[in-house]
Amino acid sequence: MSQSPEQIDIKRRGLMLVLSSPSGAGKSTISRALLEDDDRLSMSVSATTRKARPGEVEGVHYFFMEPVDFNLMINQGELLEHAKVFDNYYGTPSKPVEAALSDGKDILFDIDWQGTQQLKQKAGDDLVSIFILPPSTKSLENRLKSRAQDSDEVVAKRMSKASEEISHWPEYDYVVVNDNLDRCISEVKAILKAERVRRHRRTGLLQFVNALREGY
Ligand code: 5GP
Repeated sequence: MSQSPEQIDIKRRGLMLVLSSPSGAGKSTISRALLEDDDRLSMSVSATTRKARPGEVEGVHYFFMEPVDFNLMINQGELLEHAKVFDNYYGTPSKPVEAALSDGKDILFDIDWQGTQQLKQKAGDDLVSIFILPPSTKSLENRLKSRAQDSDEVVAKRMSKASEEISHWPEYDYVVVNDNLDRCISEVKAILKAERVRRHRRTGLLQFVNALREGY
């Protein structure tokens, strides 16, 4: 006998949500806000050869490593994607992503356009990508300076890279302008909410609909 529709938990596949933006457009603040009140979402912690900034914690913000160890991870196929951004290497360790997805969780990635392209090739429809644009170039510069974590030289370098990064906006599913942080956060949350109920992700729908059509 079939289960009644109420007994059926409509299962769905986890999704991979990517946020990309030029450095300083507010991506980390948006990520924190998304994670704060959503226990179905977990953050992918990247590996990097960049040195830790003040306040950054190993295993929370990044796995900080020497180039030789990073290369080892590449050679052993332990990274889902990797790229050189500015002067450092960044990559996504595969294992935690696979564990979270099989646990039915969605995963949030703060990665650049190069990593997004690589993940798109691997994950296809399971990937949802959002590009965050700053409201102006000046605001980007102000944010980078007020972070006070990077030298003037690093800030200048990141500013000169911003335009190149922004040029990749058409490769993303959604584009959100961060002219008002609260609105930007609620737009990103709305995207996630809608993407979660996309038909192709809801693997349990057929069973549910069959039960409905059988009159249960
Ligand atoms: P930051 O040094 O400011 O933490 O990050 C610099 C850039 O590297 C950001 O645009 C960020 O999205 C990107 N990034 C961080 N982790 C990864 C990663 O694992 N893969 C790729 N491709 N980019 C990353």
